[in-house]
Amino acid sequence: MSIVQVSNLRKSFGDLDVLKNITFEIEKNQVVAVIGPSGSGKSTMLRSLIHLEQIDGGSVSVGGQDLVKEGVYANHQELKRITSKMGMVFQHFNLFPHLTVKENLELAPKYVKGEQGDQIAQRSTELLKKVGLSDKANVYPSKLSGGQKQRVAIARALMMNPEIMLFDEPTSALDPELTGEVLQVIKQLAAEQITMIIVTHEMGFAKEVADKILFMDQGEITESGTPEEIFMNPKSERTKAFINYVL
Ligand code: ADP
Ligand code: MG
Repeated sequence: MSIVQVSNLRKSFGDLDVLKNITFEIEKNQVVAVIGPSGSGKSTMLRSLIHLEQIDGGSVSVGGQDLVKEGVYANHQELKRITSKMGMVFQHFNLFPHLTVKENLELAPKYVKGEQGDQIAQRSTELLKKVGLSDKANVYPSKLSGGQKQRVAIARALMMNPEIMLFDEPTSALDPELTGEVLQVIKQLAAEQITMIIVTHEMGFAKEVADKILFMDQGEITESGTPEEIFMNPKSERTKAFINYVL
């Protein structure tokens, strides 16, 4: 069963057609890596799925519910329900600097969902353990390394029990020696079969964890397939050139 269905998605910024005719499907429990040159529309595509960008045409459905159907968006309440199925992790962490790690994790569940405090506290303790940061619960983000900040951001997204996790270049802002610890956490989630879409330049990682790769170029998915198909036997010269360039 497809958990995400995107068809003919179009998006422009002024005169610039950033997403031209994006169509793809993701199955439940799949890990999908999105690769492609800078400026090809990867972030805009991901942001469109969670309604951080308003699209100009096409359809997006998540978990069988239409976020937008042929350019017409669902009502406010449904949009909230559908987007809350997804958690997103950004390149620049976006932690709240004036809140401790634990407070960063607990803020959204407390104020957005109105859950019980003890349940929330229990989950934040568990998730900090999962990302290896139990000892950092009461520190402020400024005291953390980039890799630790990103692991907090992942735990924070998981607090909402998302069905799908979206990652936009989660390691691009990190020093090389810190990328491993973040990729390790994402790999662990992949092993737990959380459905994920990951925009990444880490080709080794994509090859290892992805079930499916989408290659984007100039606002289009020009090629998609298994890691083997894309990396060992790319169909287009453009994909070949990109892969040879980044590897
Ligand atoms: P990628 O993530 O693949 O690098 P983006 O989705 O960030 O690509 O950007 C695709 C194109 O859209 C780029 O040309 C970028 O400059 C442009 N773009 C992205 N966001 C905006 C915006 N808010 N306003 C205008 N142009 C934008
Ligand atoms: Mg981007």
